[in-house]
Amino acid sequence: CGIFAVIGSREVSSLLIDGLRKLEYRGYDSAGIATIDNLNNDQIGQLNVTKAKGKLINLSNLIKKKPPKGHVGIAHTRWATHGKPNERNAHPHLDFSGQIAVVQNGIIENYRDLSNSLKLKGIKLTSETDTEIIPHLIGLEIEHYLANGLSPNEQTLLIAVQKVLTLLEGTYSIAVIWSKAPNALVVARGQAPLVLGFGEGEFFCASDTPALTGFTRTFLPLRDHESALLTPLGIELYDDDGKRQHRAPSIIEGAE
Ligand code: GLU
Repeated sequence: CGIFAVIGSREVSSLLIDGLRKLEYRGYDSAGIATIDNLNNDQIGQLNVTKAKGKLINLSNLIKKKPPKGHVGIAHTRWATHGKPNERNAHPHLDFSGQIAVVQNGIIENYRDLSNSLKLKGIKLTSETDTEIIPHLIGLEIEHYLANGLSPNEQTLLIAVQKVLTLLEGTYSIAVIWSKAPNALVVARGQAPLVLGFGEGEFFCASDTPALTGFTRTFLPLRDHESALLTPLGIELYDDDGKRQHRAPSIIEGAE
């Protein structure tokens, strides 16, 4: 029901919970976060996922007990549309390698066709949601790019996500992280609202502007079928053809 995501230079687990709290009013049945612990500034980080059914306090208690490390993370409050409201169906969802995490707000209309094609490729789905197909599809694209000589980095993640967007039908928005690109957060909008937020050395994305107040007052709403790459250095915006877009954010006085 709501997405919140951040990348920067400080620990993000408590920021993710704060962001989800601002989305609480939209209603939800479960919540979850994923962060990447960029161990020793290595090229491969470690993906940490924490989910809980019910109220946000259940998730925030788990996080408080054992704060997952990371300077990048995605968070989600779920209002189940496909699959029971339980921990297994809560977001984030992972791909077959366990290295890619995705949250989705909305509905993927053609998920049945896509999950059938994944099953034919031998990929086992572990949840009942319309969302789990997305990380698997991104994983397959990445596998293909790596086999063709691309390096595991943020550009590879970006083009894999952009490719998968062309396969998805419905009203949705997504946020994606990959442990092999620990300095990247990729987000995309397919008709469900998503707003970028520009902070000081940290960058945000959320389902609505109120979720970003308190973090920043510089906002840029994504348009349908746009995607964005967020790194600790800034935000790159792309249209549905993968062409770089340049649009000035707006500053809302008194929002912070
Ligand atoms: N359709 C997705 C699900 O049931 C996302 C629902 C939402 O936006 O919370 O998991």
